[in-house]
Amino acid sequence: MFCGLQGTMEGDFTGKEMYHLNFDPKGYFNMYKSFGLSVSPGNDERLRFILERLHKTFALDGIRGDTLIDIGSGPSIYQLLSACESFKEIIASDLLEKNREEMQKWLKKDPEAFDWTPMVKYVCQLEGDRETWPEKQEKLRRTVKQVLKCDVTLANPFHPLVVPPADCVLSSCCLEGASKDFPAYRSALKNVASLVKPGGHLILVIPLEATYYMAGQSKFSDCFVKPEMVKVAVKEVGFDIVCFENLNVDFPVALSDVKAFGFLVAQKCNKAEVATGKAKE
Ligand code: SAH
Repeated sequence: MFCGLQGTMEGDFTGKEMYHLNFDPKGYFNMYKSFGLSVSPGNDERLRFILERLHKTFALDGIRGDTLIDIGSGPSIYQLLSACESFKEIIASDLLEKNREEMQKWLKKDPEAFDWTPMVKYVCQLEGDRETWPEKQEKLRRTVKQVLKCDVTLANPFHPLVVPPADCVLSSCCLEGASKDFPAYRSALKNVASLVKPGGHLILVIPLEATYYMAGQSKFSDCFVKPEMVKVAVKEVGFDIVCFENLNVDFPVALSDVKAFGFLVAQKCNKAEVATGKAKE
């Protein structure tokens, strides 16, 4: 099923060109989103971890508001299943038109859209009633108001559009792939963090200690990050860490050399707190 690691390794496999040329939404679905049938048990465990933490963050810890922006949504909607109960509107986004189109297929109920129902049912079960999954799908379709082009390497990731700062910005497994090294990661983080209102929240799902992942037949580089590096970078851009949790995973080399996934929730300091030096350490 997989090509292994050869074939796409020559040359520079980082950067936007690589995504435009080689990111294959169908291959990505097959490898990472076939919940319950995943090629790797570690991947199912990862998806459960992410869905459970998102459920906890929004439904139990009560992070809510008017607008949530999801940065680097890819062709995926699973990361928005809990959020649609806590935000009036969601803006999804990605660099690639083919990913935005794939998401639009699901939003418009195209028969060729990816079938997310196993994950939708799982989230409904977490919320108390697995049988409400058709309503949940409709709710999410109503709540995603826009699917925009974004580029995290730009100071304004939505350039030339100006999107008002949001109550919450979520980004799952995007910044690492979009950044060739840690300085680039910190800069992308700063760009994404600028989209959060003072007092609002930033939620990151972070592949830890990874240098690559496969999507379809192609290999994409990941910026290697450890929890401490991310926490320091998030504080540097004006946030307090609310929580950071880790799940160790055992992925086959044909998927990724990732060691763990981090789930981080941070809150943007109010300007007044920063100015008076009251921001927490
Ligand atoms: N968040 C989704 C997809 C992660 S895959 C999920 O959890 O399943 C990584 C995504 O980052 C891809 O969709 C890719 O197109 C996007 N990406 C890569 N470089 C980017 C950039 N510079 N700006 C925005 N998105 C980018």
